Amino acid sequence: MNILIIEDEYSLADAVAETLKSEKFNVCIKSNGEDGEDEALTENYDLILLDVMLPQKNGFEILKYLRQEKIKTPIIMLTAKSEIDDKLNGLENGADDYITKPFAMKELVARIKAVLKRTNNIDDTSFLEFGDITLDLKNANLKCNENEIQISGKELEILEQLLLNKNQILSRESLLERIWGYESDAEYNNVEVYITFIRRKLKLIESKVNIKAVRGIGYKLEEKDDK
Ligand code: CA
Repeated sequence: MNILIIEDEYSLADAVAETLKSEKFNVCIKSNGEDGEDEALTENYDLILLDVMLPQKNGFEILKYLRQEKIKTPIIMLTAKSEIDDKLNGLENGADDYITKPFAMKELVARIKAVLKRTNNIDDTSFLEFGDITLDLKNANLKCNENEIQISGKELEILEQLLLNKNQILSRESLLERIWGYESDAEYNNVEVYITFIRRKLKLIESKVNIKAVRGIGYKLEEKDDK
């Protein structure tokens, strides 16, 4: 899950980012309104945390513009106490929730999870499919026709990322970042080892799906031909 933080207070943005990373979210921080809006328009995010008072363009203006442009990404407004009268303004303009500063990180995480659940972004991804395989995220189970096998931990997380990005090459860097975190010392070898484990499991359940290594770049799912 990717979260965009649009917030100009560096210390707050960093603290939020650290908390979210420890909760396994991927995080991007933008510290002014225009950069934040541009990033939000890419639709690469599952949720946006949007501050109100921002340089260049304020949070309400951004919110209004994104909704006008039919960007449906869930948005939680971060409002200061003095702006609390504005919260209705935000909700009317299409924010999914708001949280008043200062807030406890636990509270923020709970709000984020509630919004993601409500907007179905969590439930939608319980099952991921490609070719003849189905990955059941809730039960940590990988299926191909009648065959199934348990898959958990890093193997599950890597396969999940490959399935979520099934039409593109997933770089080793982005796999490392998404699964081990930005500041991890984990090396590329780690990724390769787990990819080997997953390939073995795909073979065991007699799937035609293979994880193709694209030299020097990363990995991509492919379906092997019978021929
Ligand atoms: Ca601010």
